[in-house]
Amino acid sequence: MLLRCLSLYRRPLVLLICLLPMGSFSLELKGELVQGGMLIGRVTPGEQVEVMGRSVRVDDQGLFVFGLGRDAPAEIKLTHTNGANEVTTFSYAVEQRVYREQRVEGVPQKTVTPPPEVLERIRREATLVREARTVDDRRTDFLSGFVKPLEGPITGVYGSRRVYNGTPGNPHYGLDIAAPTGTEVFAPAPGVVTLVHREMFYSGGTLLIDHGYGISSTFIHLSELLVEEGQQVGPGDPIARVGATGRATGPHLDWRINWFDVRLDPALVLDQFPAAK
Ligand SMILES: [Zn+2]
Repeated sequence: MLLRCLSLYRRPLVLLICLLPMGSFSLELKGELVQGGMLIGRVTPGEQVEVMGRSVRVDDQGLFVFGLGRDAPAEIKLTHTNGANEVTTFSYAVEQRVYREQRVEGVPQKTVTPPPEVLERIRREATLVREARTVDDRRTDFLSGFVKPLEGPITGVYGSRRVYNGTPGNPHYGLDIAAPTGTEVFAPAPGVVTLVHREMFYSGGTLLIDHGYGISSTFIHLSELLVEEGQQVGPGDPIARVGATGRATGPHLDWRINWFDVRLDPALVLDQFPAAK
């Protein structure tokens, strides 16, 4: 197909204007094409978008969102189908990151090599979290942008390879912010509480907030939960208190952002989509 595309790559905005033989359409992407990044796009309402073989919700304004995981490939494909069922596929380069190793000493040894009798509990809890992240709600709360859920020194970052008490574990997906036990945690964006669990094996006090379109926040190691499932929260509302529950060496908040099961980098999302002051 004859396709002429003008790509203006002005980070963090990627704008693609395509002139097709049968007409023209525009596809707009906001956000950085980097591992861990969140991207908000716009097409003409009624058109369809597929990213990495996965169809994404396009609303009646033409808005859609997707995320790139920690190990997203160097090139991704986005397929666009217009109202006349004409299909165009775009390739985008995804910036590849280098993740550091972080050694964590002093976590409870049972959380590094869990005894067999807790494996069933671990599986059950993982299922609860996984299911909460399948919520696909039409609310566009994520469009308000994000603020830090609390202020404090950053003690852990997204993507790092973790070694717990000398044993290699899963990569770290959250942004760790240190604060004394009991410090209030605030909602980083509007949303609806989809999971409240007081004591998970790895994550301790755990809270999930859905921001719409599969974008969710997860908060772990909490000492206290101040909201209930189904509750609507506004940006800056107190939702929980910092703790050191689960696999933790000291009090801190671990904040994660997902696009469904795809784990995004909260620091990147904060940087690219800050809430209007
Ligand atoms: Zn953490």
